[in-house]
Amino acid sequence: MRLIDLRSDTVTQPTAGMREAMLTAPTGDDVYGEDPTVRQLEQTLAAQLGLQAGLFVPSGTMSNLLALMAHCGRGDEYITGQLAHTYKYEAGGAAVLGSIQPQPVEMEPDGSLDLERVAAAIKPDDFHFARTRLLALENTMQGKVLPPAYLAEARAFTRERGLVLHLDGARLFNAVVKLGCTPEDISRHFDSVSVCLSKGLGAPVGSVLCGDEAFIGRARRLRKMVGGGMRQAGVLAAAGLYALEHQVQRLAQDHQRAREIAEGLEGLGYVVEPVQTNMVYVQMGERAGALKAFCAERGVILTAASRLRMVTHLDVQPEHVEPILECFAAFVRS
Ligand SMILES: *Cc1c(COP(=O)(O)O)cnc(C)c1O
Repeated sequence: MRLIDLRSDTVTQPTAGMREAMLTAPTGDDVYGEDPTVRQLEQTLAAQLGLQAGLFVPSGTMSNLLALMAHCGRGDEYITGQLAHTYKYEAGGAAVLGSIQPQPVEMEPDGSLDLERVAAAIKPDDFHFARTRLLALENTMQGKVLPPAYLAEARAFTRERGLVLHLDGARLFNAVVKLGCTPEDISRHFDSVSVCLSKGLGAPVGSVLCGDEAFIGRARRLRKMVGGGMRQAGVLAAAGLYALEHQVQRLAQDHQRAREIAEGLEGLGYVVEPVQTNMVYVQMGERAGALKAFCAERGVILTAASRLRMVTHLDVQPEHVEPILECFAAFVRS
């Protein structure tokens, strides 16, 4: 049976071209800084983001952790959204491993953080409090693109308050493609940016953390500390380089697929949130578990969540939209 897996854009298989690039990549020991393909990936992405340096790491979780630990010390605090990946989905790593206190704040419907709310959460310089050091944003945030004007406001705000500004840009390129801008149009507002290669870009493994030389130097030491130093990592970096070269513009197709699915579901009477990039959110309420089982029997793989998230990616083909919608239509009738 043909399977259509909509759980995440992490489920993609490496394409034939990507596998070929991996097979032929020149490699060296990257802990010694001697892997030419890793270096090329780090330099390529840093240049695209207009930042001085990059660091290839095994995962987005490690990338964010290293960023928070390289910017903040023990007893410092970072502010982020209640639903931010760094806060909610990374096992509390910054607190556990970095002794960095998280200060989550409620999020706005567009995925941004109200800067008034952030200002109210900043601690005064007083020995009772942790030292507020950093603001972390996420773009895209649950598939939503942060408005460009907001990024400029957040930059001005953090400058004024003496805060570092970090971007969890796991899906930065979805935002870039949606806005039709350059990566630098977004990254220039941030001190550091983390980008996932293994989401919509379709690489099997890896993220790149970018920032200035001194910051990346600190992050490199921390990467070794948490066991993220890899040796002949060029075989993996080659997949990332291939993705940056060949699989960025095609994200527009994922966005198109997501729109088609959303429109189809609306036509069937489902309550669907507006789609911006590659994520479709549907209100399923208590029917979520039943829907998941129903669709699984028909080859459509979903998560069971009352606010169901479906993610399009390079293994969701144009001809998959119809069977997906048929599943949902049959479920309505059942
Ligand atoms: C997936 C993701 C990460 C972490 O990436 P992993 O490689 O799965 O650790 C970080 N932030 C966001 C927004 C993500 O979606």
